[in-house]
Amino acid sequence: MSRKILVLADLRNGGVRNVTFEALSAAKNISEGGEVSVAVLSNNAAVNTGEFAHYGADKVYVVNNAALENYVPDAYAAALEAVIKEAGANVVFLAHSAIGRDLAPKLAARFGAGAVSDIINVELDGGNLVFTRPIYAGKAFTKNTVNSDLIFATIRPNNLTKSEPDTSRSAETVNLSVDLPADSLRTFIKEVVKKSTGGVDLSEAKIIVSGGRGVKSADGFKPLQELADVLGAAVGASRGACDAEYCDYALQIGQTGKVVTPDLYIAAGISGAIQHLAGMSNSKVIVAINKDPEAPIFKVADYGIVGDLFEIVPILTEELKKALA
Ligand code: FAD
Repeated sequence: MSRKILVLADLRNGGVRNVTFEALSAAKNISEGGEVSVAVLSNNAAVNTGEFAHYGADKVYVVNNAALENYVPDAYAAALEAVIKEAGANVVFLAHSAIGRDLAPKLAARFGAGAVSDIINVELDGGNLVFTRPIYAGKAFTKNTVNSDLIFATIRPNNLTKSEPDTSRSAETVNLSVDLPADSLRTFIKEVVKKSTGGVDLSEAKIIVSGGRGVKSADGFKPLQELADVLGAAVGASRGACDAEYCDYALQIGQTGKVVTPDLYIAAGISGAIQHLAGMSNSKVIVAINKDPEAPIFKVADYGIVGDLFEIVPILTEELKKALA
């Protein structure tokens, strides 16, 4: 059965986040010949819509409106609702980001549709879509089917395989005008204050160097940042480090922080509490540095280094500098 799949483009800092192309690649694989489309909601963002076609999009729905300059739930929900109706979508993919997590259940309720969150795989089984999602802090996985004519699914970044771009493909652009009067929006953004959390986006980073309470101070993050700079990595943290005010909560990884799936996760001075593991245990390779050989983090680590992070991290940085020079 062919199905129409719509992907909400995840725009960030003037660019399109990788998860959008991962979602499009998956959409193409499971569409069974149906139409794959993208919704671009923004205030005239300069987005290269052609790139969507290279990853499988047949149509790009563009809604430009001043109310979409920043994420406002009512405005985004109304705009996406209009695109879903126009596209006649059966499946809507959103990133499992703060925005996707907010919009998917809101719209699923509005449409009386099914929803599945935080998926790390989607496949076809006898014509049904089967969604895989982690449970119990990543210790187990469930396979779910959703019995609904319209399904909303949020996708965990860095998990679905991004296909090779087919630059011969092109997509039709459909400009959609959606009325978003100010009095229909119950919230509005007065000011956006950006926190400086380093250059690399944590949720999409291929390598993350994370620090815990073991870094002992804000300055203790410096050797981790130096290692991250050499590796082109993002810096993350445990809640222990955030609670101790060694770093900003924007860096927190875990159950109540960001969920990440990098190729390489280096945990330094992190004990490995279950709530931290919930955010990183699906990383492809985990390296733990901890002076306590009994620390639970070693149970999930592929490589463990027992020792003082302040001795080990600078050595790693120097050796990697030489190796990568
Ligand atoms: P600690 O547990 O204090 O561990 C510090 C580690 O550093 C120790 O293992 C120690 O051996 C090691 N160490 C110390 N000095 C050095 C050194 N010089 N060199 C090497 N190693 C050293 N936590 C999260 O991380 N993310 C979450 O999202 C999260 N959500 C939570 C939600 C709830 C509802 C609750 C109750 C808790 C949550 N927590 C979360 C907190 C979690 O339970 C832990 O308290 C927290 O992860 C501990 O942080 P930590 O590992 O940095 O600190």
